[in-house]
Amino acid sequence: KVKSQGGGSIAALSPDDHGRLNRKALIEKRLMHALDRNNMQVLYQPQVDILTGRITGAEALVRWRDEEAGIVSPEELIPIAEETGLIHDIGLFVLESVCQQMKDWATRGINLHVSINSSVREFRDKDMASLIQEHLDQNNCRPDQLTVEITEKFALEAEAERSIIRQMMLLQQSGVTFALDDFGTGYASFRYMQLLPISELKIDKQFIQSLSQQEKMPKLVSGMIQFGKSMDFRVIAEGVETNEQFEVLRTLGCDVTQGYLSGHPVEAAELERWLKSAD
Ligand code: C2E
Ligand code: MG
Ligand code: MG
Ligand code: MG
Repeated sequence: KVKSQGGGSIAALSPDDHGRLNRKALIEKRLMHALDRNNMQVLYQPQVDILTGRITGAEALVRWRDEEAGIVSPEELIPIAEETGLIHDIGLFVLESVCQQMKDWATRGINLHVSINSSVREFRDKDMASLIQEHLDQNNCRPDQLTVEITEKFALEAEAERSIIRQMMLLQQSGVTFALDDFGTGYASFRYMQLLPISELKIDKQFIQSLSQQEKMPKLVSGMIQFGKSMDFRVIAEGVETNEQFEVLRTLGCDVTQGYLSGHPVEAAELERWLKSAD
């Protein structure tokens, strides 16, 4: 087994490379049947209004524990799923789970706003506008209860693909909103801000977590919040872990926080208990 290096020379794979490739092959193999085996799950992490302290919504995050591969984190899972196309199955599983959950919550008077994460490949290969609308309809969910989170990488690619923009526009017209996730970490281009129907900005956790460690960070984060506000975006801070971070963000005018301080991602029933105990 060999890999080519820059100048066309060939080097043997290191033990590290072997480990990584074996792990990837195992995940690919196991992933194909993961959904049949019913061992994928959706957890919900609360999003909290910074002024009232109330839970206004939740982000749906996929979890996978496999008998052979063990716990596969989304950071490991999603790139492989994107590459193999299995992201379509995962995306559909999450969409179905979330819509069913919203329907179930509605029967108990809970109308929580839910965000899902989407990969660009889902919008490229599938008609996501129809797929999302069908699922919302089937479960009597209001479209304005759903947010689709996209990354800067997604935005950058979507910008050049008419059919993706069209699907996003259709969804926006029906009431679905879009959030720009991990803001500030990707390919910062401001062009897509006016092209794509984005209405929410999620400041990446790396900025929040170094708020008090790096001198320039409060100014940088303040600038991001001001930018979001001037675009009429709702601004969410990700990865808020301490009261200190929370206070700084409140002072800077951030709208919503999401992070371990207000709660880890949990099962739907647990989130429901949190909602009840806050009443
Ligand atoms: P993301 O969309 O930016 O989600 C936030 C991530 O930050 C989650 O990691 C969450 O558990 C973690 N997090 C939340 N609060 C804190 C905190 O206070 N401190 C720290 N250190 N971390 C916090 P997770 O669940 O491991 O997901 C990682 C990424 O995988 C997500 O980042 C998202 O990009 C992707 N992902 C997760 N579920 C899905 C999915 O269903 N579909 C797609 N396409 N991507 C997904
Ligand atoms: Mg997200
Ligand atoms: Mg994020
Ligand atoms: Mg992320």
